Amino acid sequence: MQVYPLADHGYCIYHLSQNVKLSCKNVNRELVATKFMECAKAYTEAEFKKLYAAFIKRYPAAGAYLDRTVGQNKWVRCYFLGARYNIDTTNTVESINGVFRYVRAYALLPMIDAMVTKLSEWFNKYRKISLETPRTQKLIPFVENLMHIRCVEATLLPVTELNSYFLEYNVTVVGGSSYVVDLVEKTCSCKLFDIDKYPCVHAIAAALEAGKKNRNSDPIA
Ligand SMILES: [Zn+2]
Repeated sequence: MQVYPLADHGYCIYHLSQNVKLSCKNVNRELVATKFMECAKAYTEAEFKKLYAAFIKRYPAAGAYLDRTVGQNKWVRCYFLGARYNIDTTNTVESINGVFRYVRAYALLPMIDAMVTKLSEWFNKYRKISLETPRTQKLIPFVENLMHIRCVEATLLPVTELNSYFLEYNVTVVGGSSYVVDLVEKTCSCKLFDIDKYPCVHAIAAALEAGKKNRNSDPIA
């Protein structure tokens, strides 16, 4: 925290789920872990409260364990104080541990040499891939693919302009629910845009509407 002052501390929800399920007796423990993960991944406070109320009603021992041991801002996505993006687990750290599983048994200097070699190999590989990638593709493949799907869905959503100066829009989805998008602040009331840091389907619909008004601007760039 002293080295990275903008970082905040949160728990790996997979490891926490393994502790939570052990706090319950005479129930399907795998289901406890699954339901806990669903609560942890909620994007909005309303969604979390609804899921968590059902969770603690069904598994009161798990609720008591969580209340006793962990603050909600350490595991609930929508209450996290920093920028957690969509990273809920320590999978990346576990992967690195796996890569250096044997190397970690070396003496210090050979261990550092082996790690530098591996990191250099990765940097070289991905430098080449990035140079071969078209300049128009600014996103990583996972998000690029997601954007392709969302862009198609976004064209079908009705959008109402709320404030053309601050680029605020109301977007209605199938079923009648409405979401408010602010393209200047890069937020949406569904909270995906705020937390994941790339546009949700509502933000894309709003950006398409804004683009119609000003063909030369790119509001979400
Ligand atoms: Zn949204």
